[in-house]
Amino acid sequence: MSTVPENVPPTIKHWIDGRLADATDGRTFDVTDPVTNSAYAQAARGSAADVQRAVTAARAAFPEWSALPNRERARILYRVADAIEARHDRLAHFESYDSGLPITQAKGQARRAAENFRYFADVIVGLGEEAFRQGSEQFSYVVRTPVGVAGLITPWNTPFMLESWKLAPALASGCTLILKPAEWTPLSASLWPEILTEAGLPAGAVNIVHGIGDEAGQALVDHPDVPLVSFTGSTETGRHIISSSAKHLKTTSMELGGKSPVVVFADADVEAALDSVVFGVFSLNGERCTAGSRVLVERPLYEEFTNRLAERAGRVKVGLPSDPTTEVGALVHTEHYERVMDYVEIGKQEARLVAGGARPDHLTEGNYLQPTVFADAERNHRIFQEEIFGPVVAVAPFDHETEAVELANATQYGLAAYIWTSDLKRGHRMAHAVESGMVWINSHNVRDLRTPFGGVKASGVGREGGAHSIDFYSESKTVHVALADVHTPRFGAA
Ligand code: NAD
Repeated sequence: MSTVPENVPPTIKHWIDGRLADATDGRTFDVTDPVTNSAYAQAARGSAADVQRAVTAARAAFPEWSALPNRERARILYRVADAIEARHDRLAHFESYDSGLPITQAKGQARRAAENFRYFADVIVGLGEEAFRQGSEQFSYVVRTPVGVAGLITPWNTPFMLESWKLAPALASGCTLILKPAEWTPLSASLWPEILTEAGLPAGAVNIVHGIGDEAGQALVDHPDVPLVSFTGSTETGRHIISSSAKHLKTTSMELGGKSPVVVFADADVEAALDSVVFGVFSLNGERCTAGSRVLVERPLYEEFTNRLAERAGRVKVGLPSDPTTEVGALVHTEHYERVMDYVEIGKQEARLVAGGARPDHLTEGNYLQPTVFADAERNHRIFQEEIFGPVVAVAPFDHETEAVELANATQYGLAAYIWTSDLKRGHRMAHAVESGMVWINSHNVRDLRTPFGGVKASGVGREGGAHSIDFYSESKTVHVALADVHTPRFGAA
């Protein structure tokens, strides 16, 4: 049985200018859980009028927040991290209940959210500005200023963690902001008001407007006083947001979809590669942008690796998100579940099903799918080309390194890639040849928050992470100063 966690608000409200608020027109939408697929709460359904209220509050809060010394902002961000940790269990239970993530993995995401705040507090305190000297004649220095009111739009996979990934650097940089959380998973965002208030954030520095993408999200993108939009979500929505942002020449950052390859050479540490492949595509229910959802295996290892992967997938424990032994929980929403199940049917036509492919027998209701493995996938197959965003993996053989590179690069996406080989020279060659924003050699998705995060091709535009995030939320102004007499050509002088 799935029970509603304690203290779930009956209506998840906006948070504007430090106060909880209903939608201006009073509208709400249903919030469902992925186990019973029934509405357990309502959320305020934001409109352009609500976005306008939030932008007014964020603009009013901007002068004070942006003027604080970096150290003062960092102090508040540390307190945000403490306040997140103080609610760690409640946060993880909210997230798991609303999104279907297994509780153990939701707890990990809650820890990461706190770490994002501590990390960006450190970055902003440690970050200097550049200075350039041209001999003894001129000196130039760069002043960094926050861009202004930021619009942050986030998806439903690991919602709270991804919100923190944008909130922390935006606030650290001195921006005030409006967050539009994903409509399928608004519950954990209902904790931000108490967390941010407890940390001492001034009213209006963060505003939250819930709602549907093409209503509240679109109104935020279209607002002329929001000069910057940071978006994480699907490639299709990202394209649309870039084109809408063109009207006001907004700065945008796009963290989009992926279909990341895992390339396993025959000389790889097979046990380590297998653990990584299984975890990389089935953790977070496979709803992970950097999932290694295409596994390319060198021919001599192909049959053995595919069989062992299928065997492991068959044993992955699918169950209630709240059960601490669950490895794969329930997919976020019926609409997404149906989409993933459609891909499973497509896969059955295109390739060879070797594991999963159906709801586990013991789970008669809820959005469950036994981890699914398709062997002999070919590059023109839809399951090889399209992001499925569920616990489904396509496996294909290759005969030599050149073919591995071709197959790895044969999709529109380029977010992450994983290379498994004992030959480090080859590992580096592959890492350089694969078209992606990030590559892991003999490792899975372990992040270093200082490194740039983002993708190439249809996986994104721009980089966030480390100083890259601060650059995104800041404008740089160069000040040139003469240190000696200027020698200007004297046009018009007699
Ligand atoms: P989505 O594009 O449907 O929605 C993302 C957000 O955009 C939601 O808040 C939604 O309400 C909003 N939105 C939708 N239409 C909008 C519009 N017209 N204007 C403004 N906002 C709008 O994506 P999703 O299904 O929630 O998330 C899954 C996708 O996110 C996958 O493709 C996944 O790969 C991607 N993702 C990428 C990364 C990354 O870092 N590259 C990380 C996580 C998820």
